[in-house]
Amino acid sequence: MIQKERKNALCRDKTSGWEKLNTEEKEKIFKFSDEYMNFLNQAKTEKEVVQIAKDILQKNDFVDIHEKETLQPGDKVFSINRDRSLYIAVIGEERIENGLKIVAAHGDSPRIDLKQNPLYEEKELALLKTHYYGGIKEYQWPNIPLSIHGRIVKTNGETIDICIGEKAEEPIFTISDLLIHLAEEEQMQRKLKEGVRGEELNVLVGSIPCADATIEERVKENVLKLLYEKYGITEMDFMSAEIELVPAWKARSLGFDESMIAGYAQDDKVCCYTALRGILNVTHPKNTAVCVIIDKEEIGFVGVTGMYSKIFDTFIANLLDKRKQNQPNALEKTFSHSMAISADVESAYNPSFSSNFEPYNTAYLGKGLTVVKYGGGEGKANSSEAPAEVVAELRRIYDEAGVKYQACELGKVDKGGGGTIALTLANRGMDVIDSGVPIMGMHAPYEITSKFDVYQAYKGYEAFYQS
Ligand code: MN
Ligand code: MN
Repeated sequence: MIQKERKNALCRDKTSGWEKLNTEEKEKIFKFSDEYMNFLNQAKTEKEVVQIAKDILQKNDFVDIHEKETLQPGDKVFSINRDRSLYIAVIGEERIENGLKIVAAHGDSPRIDLKQNPLYEEKELALLKTHYYGGIKEYQWPNIPLSIHGRIVKTNGETIDICIGEKAEEPIFTISDLLIHLAEEEQMQRKLKEGVRGEELNVLVGSIPCADATIEERVKENVLKLLYEKYGITEMDFMSAEIELVPAWKARSLGFDESMIAGYAQDDKVCCYTALRGILNVTHPKNTAVCVIIDKEEIGFVGVTGMYSKIFDTFIANLLDKRKQNQPNALEKTFSHSMAISADVESAYNPSFSSNFEPYNTAYLGKGLTVVKYGGGEGKANSSEAPAEVVAELRRIYDEAGVKYQACELGKVDKGGGGTIALTLANRGMDVIDSGVPIMGMHAPYEITSKFDVYQAYKGYEAFYQS
């Protein structure tokens, strides 16, 4: 439709998505973005994403699959894997083995994790040792307000979830960099990659000594006392804990025109949220629609809650069982007839670092959902390249739904690359293609998206589930 209206209809459309929008469409985009920013502010870790997604699902009549003996077309179910990943389905009219329409996003994001023995004292200061999670530029993480989100599990099975630093009245934490006045001789001579090293990412957490002057390390003791009083935990309990430090700031509208969003963890909460909102609108699809929010993408899709995990297969086998359609090879047949979108962010052109991008094949903020035939760098290494037929099918779906999209790859050919969970889905025998939201400053504590693109993801994923 859009194509015919344009003068030079033989050329691809390179216009900004903001052009030709009427006031009503613009209002819808801004309203959706407010809801998305609200989600970002509540869901900063993989467990929080799953928890909040569960609340949203239950409010929209989705039920835990374990509460269902059998499944009928139109039923809406979900299953949670160890509080860290989530599988959602709306049962279609077709037999399950005729294929699924899957949108898979990841709920984990780069962050600063605590080590197992984190707490120490030096010169009457208490600090925490960390081991960062995912690909970060270490120098970006000092001198910003950090909040602590975590789970501590005691040997009696008791689980304690903590969150400190998100509310205005709560303290925050920070990693302090060396002052410029003393940095010239050594630190400023390092390569940027080494500017701040992993072992220098130590978090400042206390400076008041405990009252008992007879013991050593009184500041550390005081911190432990406070933790024991508030949470009933001891130093040993850090051993069986997952404590994550993330930027304490909120997602905000960006720019004079408020067209963009700056926020932590948009990789890949932006696709989690839009894929989730999309499936809420799905009723009686032809094929069964599946939304996956997966953990451990940032460290290689591994682990029991990652996309390689067979727990996903178990969920689909469960759908087959409860539809009374399970038989030998039904799962394999289902996968081989399925189509999946690996819903993940793609780098957006940054004018300040233009030499790293190839301008004809780069994503731009505000020009729509990305369609990425292949990832990988230096000869498409390790990418799961989508067959042309699959790209065409996705184009057809987006065109029919009036969704704006752009073809792109990460950066210049020999500049490097990045992988997504696409390959884990392709390995299972399904057609898969990467399609997500362009993002500026990927993996930085503050990442930037366009409100227009976020809305295109929502509309695009919804159309895909229903196709
Ligand atoms: Mn990602
Ligand atoms: Mn990432």
